Amino acid sequence: MSPDAPDAFGLLVCPVCGDGLARRAGGLGCPAGHSFDLARQGYVNLLTGNARSGTADTPDMVAARAAFLAAGHYAPLTGAVARAAAEEAPGTVLDAGTGTGHYLAAVLDALPGATGLGLDVSKFALRRAARAHPRARAAVWDLWRPLPVRTGAVDLVLNVFAPRNAAEFHRVLRPGGTLLVVTPGPDHLAELRAGMLEVDADKDERLDRALSGHFRQVDRVPLEYPMTLTPAEAADAVGMGPSAHHAERRASTGASPAEPVRVTASFRLSRYRPA
Ligand SMILES: [Zn+2]
Repeated sequence: MSPDAPDAFGLLVCPVCGDGLARRAGGLGCPAGHSFDLARQGYVNLLTGNARSGTADTPDMVAARAAFLAAGHYAPLTGAVARAAAEEAPGTVLDAGTGTGHYLAAVLDALPGATGLGLDVSKFALRRAARAHPRARAAVWDLWRPLPVRTGAVDLVLNVFAPRNAAEFHRVLRPGGTLLVVTPGPDHLAELRAGMLEVDADKDERLDRALSGHFRQVDRVPLEYPMTLTPAEAADAVGMGPSAHHAERRASTGASPAEPVRVTASFRLSRYRPA
Protein backbone atom coordinates (compact mmCIF):
# COMPACT_ATOMS: atom_id res chain seq x y z
CA MET A 1 0.00 0.00 0.00
CA SER A 2 1.41 3.39 -0.89
CA PRO A 3 2.07 5.65 2.12
CA ASP A 4 -0.52 8.27 1.13
CA ALA A 5 -3.37 5.83 0.42
CA PRO A 6 -6.02 5.54 3.14
CA ASP A 7 -5.38 2.53 5.32
CA ALA A 8 -8.37 0.37 6.22
CA PHE A 9 -6.88 -0.16 9.67
CA GLY A 10 -8.16 3.42 10.21
CA LEU A 11 -11.69 1.95 10.43
CA LEU A 12 -10.79 0.11 13.62
CA VAL A 13 -11.33 1.18 17.21
CA CYS A 14 -9.87 -0.32 20.36
CA PRO A 15 -12.04 -3.32 21.32
CA VAL A 16 -11.30 -2.68 25.01
CA CYS A 17 -12.08 1.05 25.38
CA GLY A 18 -13.51 2.12 22.00
CA ASP A 19 -10.92 4.82 21.36
CA GLY A 20 -9.08 5.11 18.05
CA LEU A 21 -6.22 2.81 17.11
CA ALA A 22 -2.96 4.03 15.61
CA ARG A 23 0.10 2.30 14.27
CA ARG A 24 2.85 1.62 16.76
CA ALA A 25 5.87 -0.64 16.79
CA GLY A 26 4.78 -4.18 16.01
CA GLY A 27 1.08 -3.47 15.84
CA LEU A 28 -1.78 -1.12 16.70
CA GLY A 29 -2.47 0.72 19.94
CA CYS A 30 -4.92 3.17 21.52
CA PRO A 31 -4.16 6.28 23.66
CA ALA A 32 -4.98 4.33 26.85
CA GLY A 33 -2.20 1.87 26.08
CA HIS A 34 -4.13 -1.15 24.89
CA SER A 35 -2.02 -2.74 22.20
CA PHE A 36 -2.56 -5.43 19.61
CA ASP A 37 0.10 -7.35 17.75
CA LEU A 38 0.43 -7.40 14.02
CA ALA A 39 1.09 -10.97 12.88
CA ARG A 40 4.03 -11.63 10.61
CA GLN A 41 1.50 -12.37 7.84
CA GLY A 42 0.00 -8.89 8.20
CA TYR A 43 -3.29 -9.31 10.09
CA VAL A 44 -3.97 -7.84 13.55
CA ASN A 45 -5.45 -9.93 16.34
CA LEU A 46 -7.99 -7.87 18.31
CA LEU A 47 -9.56 -10.75 20.23
CA THR A 48 -8.74 -10.69 23.91
CA GLY A 49 -9.88 -13.15 26.53
CA ASN A 50 -11.80 -16.25 25.55
CA ALA A 51 -12.42 -16.31 21.85
CA ARG A 52 -15.05 -18.62 20.44
CA SER A 53 -12.28 -20.31 18.55
CA GLY A 54 -14.28 -23.52 18.44
CA THR A 55 -16.15 -22.15 15.46
CA ALA A 56 -13.05 -20.98 13.60
CA ASP A 57 -11.97 -22.64 10.40
CA THR A 58 -9.06 -25.04 10.69
CA PRO A 59 -5.98 -24.89 8.41
CA ASP A 60 -7.31 -27.86 6.42
CA MET A 61 -10.68 -26.22 5.88
CA VAL A 62 -9.04 -22.97 4.83
CA ALA A 63 -6.72 -24.74 2.38
CA ALA A 64 -9.61 -26.69 0.86
CA ARG A 65 -11.66 -23.53 0.44
CA ALA A 66 -8.77 -21.62 -1.12
CA ALA A 67 -8.13 -24.43 -3.60
CA PHE A 68 -11.81 -24.64 -4.51
CA LEU A 69 -12.07 -20.89 -5.08
CA ALA A 70 -8.82 -20.86 -7.08
CA ALA A 71 -10.29 -23.50 -9.40
CA GLY A 72 -12.89 -20.92 -10.45
CA HIS A 73 -16.10 -22.80 -9.67
CA TYR A 74 -17.49 -19.77 -7.87
CA ALA A 75 -16.12 -17.27 -10.41
CA PRO A 76 -19.64 -16.32 -11.59
CA LEU A 77 -20.61 -15.57 -7.99
CA THR A 78 -17.40 -13.64 -7.40
CA GLY A 79 -18.06 -11.54 -10.50
CA ALA A 80 -21.66 -10.88 -9.48
CA VAL A 81 -20.57 -9.78 -6.00
CA ALA A 82 -17.93 -7.45 -7.44
CA ARG A 83 -20.41 -5.90 -9.91
CA ALA A 84 -23.06 -5.41 -7.23
CA ALA A 85 -20.51 -3.77 -4.95
CA ALA A 86 -19.16 -1.54 -7.74
CA GLU A 87 -22.69 -0.24 -8.43
CA GLU A 88 -22.69 1.23 -4.93
CA ALA A 89 -19.31 2.95 -5.47
CA PRO A 90 -18.22 2.64 -1.83
CA GLY A 91 -14.97 4.14 -0.55
CA THR A 92 -14.78 1.86 2.47
CA VAL A 93 -15.77 -1.80 2.53
CA LEU A 94 -16.15 -4.01 5.59
CA ASP A 95 -16.14 -7.72 4.75
CA ALA A 96 -17.79 -9.34 7.75
CA GLY A 97 -16.63 -12.96 7.69
CA THR A 98 -13.97 -12.45 5.04
CA GLY A 99 -12.46 -15.93 5.13
CA THR A 100 -9.49 -15.97 2.78
CA GLY A 101 -10.38 -12.49 1.47
CA HIS A 102 -11.41 -13.88 -1.92
CA TYR A 103 -14.59 -11.80 -2.37
CA LEU A 104 -13.14 -8.68 -0.77
CA ALA A 105 -10.20 -8.78 -3.20
CA ALA A 106 -12.55 -9.02 -6.17
CA VAL A 107 -14.62 -6.13 -4.85
CA LEU A 108 -11.53 -3.94 -4.36
CA ASP A 109 -10.35 -4.82 -7.88
CA ALA A 110 -13.64 -3.41 -9.16
CA LEU A 111 -13.27 -0.26 -7.01
CA PRO A 112 -9.92 1.38 -7.76
CA GLY A 113 -10.16 4.00 -4.97
CA ALA A 114 -11.63 1.88 -2.19
CA THR A 115 -10.08 0.32 0.87
CA GLY A 116 -11.34 -2.82 2.58
CA LEU A 117 -11.24 -4.33 6.04
CA GLY A 118 -11.87 -8.05 6.49
CA LEU A 119 -12.93 -9.53 9.82
CA ASP A 120 -12.87 -13.23 10.56
CA VAL A 121 -12.46 -15.43 13.60
CA SER A 122 -10.00 -17.76 11.82
CA LYS A 123 -6.41 -16.59 11.91
CA PHE A 124 -5.60 -19.31 9.39
CA ALA A 125 -7.99 -17.72 6.91
CA LEU A 126 -6.66 -14.24 7.70
CA ARG A 127 -3.10 -15.25 6.85
CA ARG A 128 -4.43 -15.34 3.29
CA ALA A 129 -6.87 -12.44 3.63
CA ALA A 130 -4.14 -10.06 4.80
CA ARG A 131 -2.36 -10.64 1.50
CA ALA A 132 -5.42 -10.95 -0.72
CA HIS A 133 -5.26 -7.36 -1.99
CA PRO A 134 -2.91 -4.37 -1.54
CA ARG A 135 -5.81 -2.20 -0.31
CA ALA A 136 -7.19 -4.84 2.09
CA ARG A 137 -6.49 -5.18 5.80
CA ALA A 138 -7.52 -8.04 8.02
CA ALA A 139 -8.31 -8.42 11.71
CA VAL A 140 -9.21 -11.39 13.89
CA TRP A 141 -12.64 -10.85 15.41
CA ASP A 142 -15.79 -12.67 16.47
CA LEU A 143 -18.74 -11.25 14.51
CA TRP A 144 -21.15 -11.97 17.35
CA ARG A 145 -19.37 -9.44 19.55
CA PRO A 146 -19.69 -5.65 19.16
CA LEU A 147 -17.51 -4.87 16.14
CA PRO A 148 -14.24 -2.94 16.71
CA VAL A 149 -15.20 -0.56 13.91
CA ARG A 150 -15.98 3.17 13.90
CA THR A 151 -19.65 4.13 13.95
CA GLY A 152 -20.93 5.30 10.55
CA ALA A 153 -17.54 4.86 8.87
CA VAL A 154 -18.37 2.08 6.41
CA ASP A 155 -19.98 2.57 2.99
CA LEU A 156 -20.55 -1.11 2.19
CA VAL A 157 -20.81 -4.16 4.44
CA LEU A 158 -20.15 -7.37 2.54
CA ASN A 159 -21.42 -10.62 4.08
CA VAL A 160 -20.80 -13.82 2.13
CA PHE A 161 -21.83 -17.09 3.81
CA ALA A 162 -21.04 -15.60 7.20
CA PRO A 163 -22.72 -14.71 10.51
CA ARG A 164 -24.91 -11.59 10.41
CA ASN A 165 -24.85 -9.16 13.31
CA ALA A 166 -27.65 -6.85 12.16
CA ALA A 167 -27.38 -4.28 14.94
CA GLU A 168 -23.64 -3.90 14.51
CA PHE A 169 -23.78 -3.83 10.71
CA HIS A 170 -26.31 -1.02 11.06
CA ARG A 171 -24.14 0.90 13.52
CA VAL A 172 -20.95 0.83 11.44
CA LEU A 173 -22.68 1.72 8.15
CA ARG A 174 -23.07 5.36 7.19
CA PRO A 175 -26.63 6.55 6.54
CA GLY A 176 -27.53 5.45 3.02
CA GLY A 177 -24.83 2.78 3.03
CA THR A 178 -25.33 -0.73 1.70
CA LEU A 179 -25.40 -4.22 3.17
CA LEU A 180 -24.77 -6.90 0.53
CA VAL A 181 -25.55 -10.43 1.72
CA VAL A 182 -24.84 -13.66 -0.17
CA THR A 183 -26.73 -16.76 0.92
CA PRO A 184 -27.15 -20.20 -0.67
CA GLY A 185 -30.26 -20.71 -2.77
CA PRO A 186 -32.64 -23.60 -2.14
CA ASP A 187 -31.04 -25.81 -4.80
CA HIS A 188 -27.41 -25.11 -3.91
CA LEU A 189 -25.49 -28.41 -4.27
CA ALA A 190 -28.82 -30.24 -4.16
CA GLU A 191 -27.26 -33.23 -5.95
CA LEU A 192 -24.76 -33.67 -3.11
CA ARG A 193 -27.04 -33.10 -0.19
CA ALA A 194 -29.10 -36.28 -0.39
CA GLY A 195 -29.68 -37.50 3.13
CA MET A 196 -28.16 -34.40 4.66
CA LEU A 197 -29.74 -31.49 6.42
CA GLU A 198 -31.98 -29.71 3.95
CA VAL A 199 -31.59 -26.04 3.22
CA ASP A 200 -34.58 -24.34 4.78
CA ALA A 201 -37.19 -23.52 2.18
CA ASP A 202 -37.92 -20.29 4.02
CA LYS A 203 -34.29 -19.24 4.40
CA ASP A 204 -34.91 -15.98 2.53
CA GLU A 205 -37.75 -15.11 4.88
CA ARG A 206 -35.64 -15.87 7.92
CA LEU A 207 -32.87 -13.65 6.56
CA ASP A 208 -35.30 -10.78 6.07
CA ARG A 209 -36.78 -11.27 9.55
CA ALA A 210 -33.35 -11.30 11.17
CA LEU A 211 -32.41 -8.02 9.48
CA SER A 212 -35.84 -6.35 9.49
CA GLY A 213 -35.41 -4.22 12.60
CA HIS A 214 -32.29 -2.60 11.19
CA PHE A 215 -32.48 -2.86 7.41
CA ARG A 216 -34.90 -2.66 4.53
CA GLN A 217 -34.36 -4.84 1.49
CA VAL A 218 -33.61 -3.11 -1.81
CA ASP A 219 -33.49 -6.16 -4.05
CA ARG A 220 -32.61 -9.84 -4.22
CA VAL A 221 -30.96 -11.34 -7.29
CA PRO A 222 -30.82 -15.11 -7.80
CA LEU A 223 -27.76 -16.65 -9.43
CA GLU A 224 -27.82 -20.27 -10.58
CA TYR A 225 -25.47 -22.24 -12.84
CA PRO A 226 -24.13 -25.78 -13.27
CA MET A 227 -20.68 -26.83 -12.08
CA THR A 228 -18.68 -29.92 -12.96
CA LEU A 229 -16.71 -31.04 -9.90
CA THR A 230 -14.25 -33.80 -9.17
CA PRO A 231 -15.19 -36.00 -6.21
CA ALA A 232 -12.66 -34.15 -4.01
CA GLU A 233 -14.04 -30.79 -5.09
CA ALA A 234 -17.57 -31.98 -4.41
CA ALA A 235 -16.57 -32.90 -0.87
CA ASP A 236 -14.93 -29.49 -0.43
CA ALA A 237 -18.00 -27.71 -1.82
CA VAL A 238 -20.19 -29.33 0.80
CA GLY A 239 -17.64 -28.62 3.52
CA MET A 240 -17.39 -24.94 2.78
CA GLY A 241 -20.07 -22.33 2.22
CA PRO A 242 -22.70 -21.75 4.83
CA SER A 243 -21.91 -24.90 6.76
CA ALA A 244 -18.14 -24.61 6.69
CA HIS A 245 -17.97 -24.45 10.45
CA HIS A 246 -19.25 -27.97 10.78
CA ALA A 247 -16.22 -29.95 9.75
CA GLU A 248 -17.93 -33.25 10.47
CA ARG A 249 -20.36 -32.59 7.64
CA ARG A 250 -17.55 -33.13 5.18
CA ALA A 251 -17.04 -36.69 6.31
CA SER A 252 -20.76 -37.36 6.44
CA THR A 253 -21.25 -36.88 2.70
CA GLY A 254 -19.94 -40.44 2.47
CA ALA A 255 -21.12 -41.48 -0.96
CA SER A 256 -18.55 -39.54 -2.99
CA PRO A 257 -19.06 -40.37 -6.63
CA ALA A 258 -16.02 -41.76 -8.45
CA GLU A 259 -16.68 -39.73 -11.59
CA PRO A 260 -16.86 -35.97 -11.96
CA VAL A 261 -20.35 -34.79 -11.11
CA ARG A 262 -22.55 -32.01 -12.38
CA VAL A 263 -24.06 -30.05 -9.54
CA THR A 264 -26.10 -26.89 -9.18
CA ALA A 265 -24.61 -23.73 -7.78
CA SER A 266 -27.41 -21.55 -6.44
CA PHE A 267 -27.05 -18.24 -4.63
CA ARG A 268 -29.01 -15.16 -3.61
CA LEU A 269 -27.48 -11.69 -3.62
CA SER A 270 -29.57 -9.51 -1.31
CA ARG A 271 -29.06 -5.79 -1.00
CA TYR A 272 -30.21 -3.77 2.02
CA ARG A 273 -30.12 -0.18 3.26
CA PRO A 274 -30.13 0.88 6.90
CA ALA A 275 -33.69 1.42 8.11
ZN1 LIG B 1 -8.07 1.05 24.38
